[in-house]
This record gives sequence, structure tokens and C-alpha cells, in this order.
Amino acid sequence: EEPLVKTHKKAEIPTKPKNPIDIASYLKTKKPHLNFVVLGHVDAGKSTLMGRLLYEVGAVDSKLIRKLEKESEIIGKSSFHLAWVMDQTAEERNRGVTVDICTSDFETTKSTFTIVDAPGHRDFVPNAITGISQADVAVLSVDCGTDAFESGFNLDGQTKEHTLLARSLGIKHIIVAMNKMDTVSWQESRFRDIQSELTVFFEEIGYKSKDLSWVPCSGLTGEGIFKTAYPSSQTWYQGPNLVGELENIAAKHSTIGEDVTKEPFVFSILDVTSNSKKTNTIISGKVESGTVQPGESITVFPSEQSCVVDSILHGNDSQKGDIAVRGDFVQLKLLTAFVEDIQCGDLASIVGVDIPSSQEFTSTLLTFKLDRPLLPGTPLILFRGATEQPCRIKKLCYSVDKRKLSKVLKKKVKHLGSQQAAVVEIELVQKTRRIPMFTCEQNKKLGRVVIRKEGKTVGAALIKSLDY
Ligand code: GDP
Repeated sequence: EEPLVKTHKKAEIPTKPKNPIDIASYLKTKKPHLNFVVLGHVDAGKSTLMGRLLYEVGAVDSKLIRKLEKESEIIGKSSFHLAWVMDQTAEERNRGVTVDICTSDFETTKSTFTIVDAPGHRDFVPNAITGISQADVAVLSVDCGTDAFESGFNLDGQTKEHTLLARSLGIKHIIVAMNKMDTVSWQESRFRDIQSELTVFFEEIGYKSKDLSWVPCSGLTGEGIFKTAYPSSQTWYQGPNLVGELENIAAKHSTIGEDVTKEPFVFSILDVTSNSKKTNTIISGKVESGTVQPGESITVFPSEQSCVVDSILHGNDSQKGDIAVRGDFVQLKLLTAFVEDIQCGDLASIVGVDIPSSQEFTSTLLTFKLDRPLLPGTPLILFRGATEQPCRIKKLCYSVDKRKLSKVLKKKVKHLGSQQAAVVEIELVQKTRRIPMFTCEQNKKLGRVVIRKEGKTVGAALIKSLDY
């Protein structure tokens, strides 16, 4: 059993920013911003791709690259130096705690970006869930190499599971990095074959062609990423390179807009740290909506502890900032917080705005491929962002059409099979537990959960109502 968090008496009266800034003029200075996660099978080239990208955009210095190059030559795997970049930068920033999720920021002349990554555990599905939950779009790395294609590697478990999770957790756009094209001499036919195979799968799960981009590239040799031009043999693709396409999507999906001033501040907590005397608590996470400035107070749910935000730290080098707005990954330094009552997966909001914490909720559950049908009482695990809690189906209410969720199919259901949809009541197993929760209508991202069973994802649920 997890230790229970104490409940506090929350503050009701907001506090004012220390040095209030004019939000509208601040927003005018910001470039479009995009948070993205990199998905794909083990060995599909994800780490190499991210390392190359960070190197080419100038987010890591060439000293680090040379150091990693030397180290990888010593162990005889010189191609690995780029794959180590992400993990290395993560390690440097790691303050001695186990961080499941780590972010890397970079910038181009047009946009700013945050890569959401799970250092060290990139292939661990619960981490992928946390990463996907925080991202606006996904880059899916696909190995276009001969063996990978012939063995159906890209159409197997992990690529499919990641893509299904992306779809279930509300990822609107997927950029397919058609990677390792250097190994097939940049042949167009190879690109087209893989593209048509994958398109069938994407369409099956509900992505349309406008939600997909396809960029031929090589993380290892660098073509098609940012600076390195395509080889002269590649004449058939005239589209943008990977970073160019990320800029296009940032312009379309950027979460920054005037309306952030009209919505309440809500923050997803991904990591909690404090100094040894516990006088200094830092919560890291993502601004889900609204804005916050130093001096304002927030309430953390479910413990209902209210604290003053002392300072806001941004970016790879933890620079102090005057404000954090929707979409920003930041660290909030809190004045006098009880650190033991704040957990990863908690939500915080501006004082005066409540986030209901729930034990039971009604949701529309869409099942994936199941080995065995789901029954009421089957032990399951619920995931939402960094939250992970044992749960079970309390009641199967009725089944609905998976393509039209408002259409009732059967009024009585005893069990749920593969690829079905039904309205179900879900309850947490631990009766003392509550999860701060939104309905899908209130919040498109936070109102979605993923359900797993025995290490496999069995479905995704859209929260309809909070029952208790
Ligand atoms: P991950 O498991 O998806 O992070 O994959 P890695 O980035 O660790 O790459 C797996 C292997 O593929 C390594 O041996 C890389 O050197 C190799 N690799 C990655 N990207 C490319 C590429 O674009 N071209 C070639 N030829 N090899 C690559």
C-alpha cells in the first residue's frame, strides 16, 4: 500500500503576482511552441534521430559530441555517440532522483520545441504513456532498412501499440520519420511501399492523411533532419526536412494564444524534489492551461495543499522566468510546502479553482486486441499522465458503436471483447485513493485514461462523469 497523503485546508483567496507582467505583450514575443514525443520500435533509430536533431539545431555543443564520439569508439560502437546525446543531457540535469520523463528544449528561427523523452526507459510502455500524454504531436521513427521491412518489423507490437496509445491519448498529428533511408540508397519505391503499408494501419485506427506527414531521413548520416542536404540520388522528395515539418506543424498546432488569459491555470506534476531540510520544494511539470506568475498561489490535488509559487524555472538550464503559459514545461519553486503530500501525477490549479478528485468514474471504454474478454472485477491498471493506479470495472453499463459513441448497441453486456466500445463504471481498487480528474468534455487531454492488464494495453477510456 502506498502511504496516504494528508489532506490540507486549501486556501480560498488568490494572491497577486510579485511583479505582474503584461501577458498580452509577453505572448507577442513568443514564437509558436510545440511539444513532441518520439515513438517507434526498439532499434528503429529514435535515440540516434534525437541526438542528430539536437546536434544540428545547435542545442548541444560540439564538445559533448566529440566526447561521446571518443567514448563510443573505445567500446567499438562509433555509431552510438548520437544515440547517447539525449541520455547524457538528461543525466547532467538529473538532480539525483529517478526521473521517468525528461524534456529537452530547442529553438529555430521560426519556433520553439520541447522533446518529451523517457531517458533510459524509452521502450517501457508506461513511460511512453506519460510522454505521449504531455505531447501535442508525435514523431514516429520507422526503420526503412531492408531487413526491418521484410520481417514486418515496423508493423509489429511496439510501433502499433505506440501509435494506438497516441491516438487514444489525443495526439492530433503524427510525423513519420522514414528513417535509415541511407541503408536503402534513398530508393523511392521502398519509401512508397512502407508508406502504403503503414497508411492502412493508421487509417484503421482513425488517423486521416491530413493528420500524417512523411519525411525521408537518416538519423545516422543526418540527411533530411535539418542542415544536411539530401544526397543527389534523392530526387523524388521535395518536401520539408524533419525540423521544417515540425515548424509547419508548430505553426498549425501551437498552443499559444490570447485565450490563455481566459482559462484557469492547471498544472500536471511530473516530478517532485526538495532539499534535505525540505524547506525548498520544486515541482516539475507541464502547464495544461492558463498562466502562472511568481507570487501567485496554487492548490495541489488531491491533497488540497495550497502554496505560493516563489519562482519559475524554464528550459534546459533552469533559467528564471516571469511567467509560465499553457504548453510550457517548467519547474515551480514553492514556498513552505509539505513535499511528502505531493506526488507525481497530481494536478495543481490556481487558488480558487477546484479540481475534483475521484474514486469512481463513468467512461466510454474502447478496447484494443484482447487475449481474453474483460469482465467486471478483472484487475486492471489505470494510467493518466504520470498517474498509475490499480482499478477494475465496477459495472458494464451498455455497449456503443465504436465509430459513433453516442449510438447505443446493446443495453446489457456481460463482457467486452476486442475492439469494442462500451460505457463502463471504473473504480479504483484502493478505497482511500483519489485521482484529480476531469471529464473529456472539460479537458480533452486530462479526461482520457489508458487501461492495462498484465503488462498489456487493453483499452483507452474517455471520462464521461465523476461519480464519487
Ligand atoms: P532506438 O532503440 O530506437 O533508440 O534506436 P537507436 O538510435 O539506438 O539505433 C539503433 C541502431 O540503428 C544503432 O546501431 C544505430 O547506429 C542504427 N541507426 C540509427 N539510425 C540510423 C540511420 O539513420 N541509418 C543507419 N544506417 N543506421 C541507423
